[in-house]
Amino acid sequence: MKITIVGTGYVGLVTGTCFAETGITVTCVDVDRHKIEKLKSGIAPIYEPGLDDMIQRNAAKGRLSFSTSLKESIGESEVVFIAVGTPPDEDGHADLTHVIDVAREIGAHMKKYLAVVTKSTVPVGTADKVKAAIQKELRKRRLDTPFDVASNPEFLKEGNAIEDFLKPDRIVIGVESDQAESIMRRLYKPFLLNNHPILFMDIASAEMTKYVANAMLATKISFINDIANLCEIAGADVNAVRKGIGSDPRIGNAFIYPGVGYGGSCFPKDVKALIKTAHAHHYDLAILKAVEAVNERQKKIMFKKIAHHFQGRLKGKTFAIWGLSFKPNTDDMREAPALAIIKSLLRAGAKVKAYDPVAAKECRKHLGDKITYARDQYEALMGADALVVVTEWSEFRVPNFKIMEKNMKNKLIFDGRNIFEPAEIRDFGFVYYGIGRGRSQ
Ligand code: NAD
Repeated sequence: MKITIVGTGYVGLVTGTCFAETGITVTCVDVDRHKIEKLKSGIAPIYEPGLDDMIQRNAAKGRLSFSTSLKESIGESEVVFIAVGTPPDEDGHADLTHVIDVAREIGAHMKKYLAVVTKSTVPVGTADKVKAAIQKELRKRRLDTPFDVASNPEFLKEGNAIEDFLKPDRIVIGVESDQAESIMRRLYKPFLLNNHPILFMDIASAEMTKYVANAMLATKISFINDIANLCEIAGADVNAVRKGIGSDPRIGNAFIYPGVGYGGSCFPKDVKALIKTAHAHHYDLAILKAVEAVNERQKKIMFKKIAHHFQGRLKGKTFAIWGLSFKPNTDDMREAPALAIIKSLLRAGAKVKAYDPVAAKECRKHLGDKITYARDQYEALMGADALVVVTEWSEFRVPNFKIMEKNMKNKLIFDGRNIFEPAEIRDFGFVYYGIGRGRSQ
């Protein structure tokens, strides 16, 4: 079976590489020449554990190739996946420009029956727009070539993307023809054999499922952050509360860790886009609006604590930042809470020395040389007035407090991810601020 994946970002590249791993012949296409050149030499343009090896292995076997030309790869493919970005437009709607561009290109070059599958996260109704764009191009070519559209949203998590793709909780596929369903069954056969559930449904429901999944997860995060703030004022420790509620299987432990707000390439934009979809249907998603508002407030909480501690006098102070990416095991800086915190510190006249195991290069694209990038976590602490933990990389969890004490000007920690135990930190003589730690802080 031969397939083409258009868009070689986090989703397209992982999807293409993992399908190649199951024996399918995959061409990954992107308009970004630089990315494609890198990929041809076996280097992934993103940090994702295990991905480089898998790319090299499948490319060497001739199952995985990279190209800038959809026109060349489309002729032999049975399936084309659209996996390009759907960033928010100025209003917060999902910008479908790239998706529709690809649909037009498909219509302009397809030669025989094709299943056109949208993997990008797109609002309900997008498959109809994809279909119309393809039909329009076919009409220009005076062709009546048959094709199907389908929706196969992706649920992988950056940092664990390969495992998530190869061992999915579920595969959601929206189809409107038996032929498309049978092709998708063939494509996902290795996953079916391993008992990973495949849920077939109508296209609109599949498109909606992806947004609702992200909206639910964002809701859990904002909920616990809101509760954490109350715990802090009321003298309770949210860590204890979290455990107390998480052990109820109806609630569960996942995604109820308080912090500095959610970020990344998906939650912020998908929450916004779902609110906009509701608006277009004259419906008010009141809960999600609150989720978004709470998150905006939470992104400011660490800076507020810092400013309060220093009584607003931050000019000339130096802050060490541990962690820049929006979560561990990725170099993705899109909507990273670290950016909001650092920008506030810089605006207040403070200096920032940051360390992240992989995201410094990405961070430079956002902040340039406005901050200093340290080579390791302890170098970042040299002369620091305080440490701010922003991303919970595992190497930060059990640090050497002796070196910290030696390197820092003040023994002061703002822990935006609650990775430390307040009592332990105090035993080492540090002043500690966490999120929602109440009296134990
Ligand atoms: P990305 O920005 O990392 O990659 C998108 C790629 O598409 C880029 O390489 C870009 O050059 C390419 N592209 C744009 N227009 C193109 C065109 N006309 N032809 C060929 N290539 C083109 O995006 P991503 O993070 O991989 O996300 C892709 C989609 O998947 C989005 O809709 C996103 O919401 C969704 N998604 C992302 C994640 C994630 O964790 N990143 C998870 C699930 C779903």
